[in-house]
Amino acid sequence: MLVHSIEEVREEVYSWKKEGLSIGLVPTMGALHEGHLSLIKKAKATCDKVIVSDFVNPIQFGPSEDFDKYPRTLEADVKLCSNEGVDIVFAPSANEMYGEGNRLSNDTLTYVCPPFFYVNKLCGKTRTGHFDGVCTVVLKLFNIVQPNYAFFGQKDAQQVIIIKKMVKDLNVPIKIIQCPIVREESGLALSSRNKYLSESGKKDALVLSRILNNIKSCYKKGIKDVSALKETAYDFLNDKHDLEYLEIVDRESLEDKITADDNSIALIACRVENVRLIDNIYLSEV
Ligand code: AMP
Repeated sequence: MLVHSIEEVREEVYSWKKEGLSIGLVPTMGALHEGHLSLIKKAKATCDKVIVSDFVNPIQFGPSEDFDKYPRTLEADVKLCSNEGVDIVFAPSANEMYGEGNRLSNDTLTYVCPPFFYVNKLCGKTRTGHFDGVCTVVLKLFNIVQPNYAFFGQKDAQQVIIIKKMVKDLNVPIKIIQCPIVREESGLALSSRNKYLSESGKKDALVLSRILNNIKSCYKKGIKDVSALKETAYDFLNDKHDLEYLEIVDRESLEDKITADDNSIALIACRVENVRLIDNIYLSEV
């Protein structure tokens, strides 16, 4: 069922809660693909009722980012969700979420600001304020839906770490379930932004997963020095790739590593055809 208003979601949620049913929330920005569907399937398998939010959140985009051109495919999203047995697709307007006439800035709105240590690196370094916008909308969705479980992808590894930190620090009574990255057969991590790429751009974009897989296999062969592991990327990069970052950090705390270990994660952000793509890999399966 497609719902646009907060009140309507609340009414449904209250009736489910009265019946003692468990609720799962899958927050998305729409343009759904198999990556999103894997979260929805996990939610269906875990909870009695599933709500998918479908909202391109203006406050997590910077002024020079792709908010206006971000793909919006609500009709197709609703069909996919209904095929998966989703109970509610919640697609609010920005006015519904933030109030009419709001200037959408932290002059006029209460924001949730995750700790500097978690945001001054990786994606947060170039996307100033991005994780404030993410945490703010996610906490609002948590308060609207009051789910027992919320599902996030490892694809956005820094995001899920920051959400877990918010939930812990603010005593939010919701269990966060992290789901693995879904990839095309080629290795390319699925992303709504892949829609911006040409066919040859998609081939060039394979550089992200290739670099990460190579780092993992070098690690497995015994190379532990982070600088040496990062150096290996240059065998793959050419002038089609604009590397933003490649880092190896602790997969839970995001602390920098000098020597990689089994708790390390390698993360990359790279522009291809001016499309900003991200990917990551755990160096060990533990
Ligand atoms: P988005 O619509 O891009 O905000 O993503 C919504 C949720 O889907 C986030 O928790 C993402 O991490 C997750 N997601 C996006 N792409 C993938 C993927 N390829 N595999 C698994 N989860 C994904």
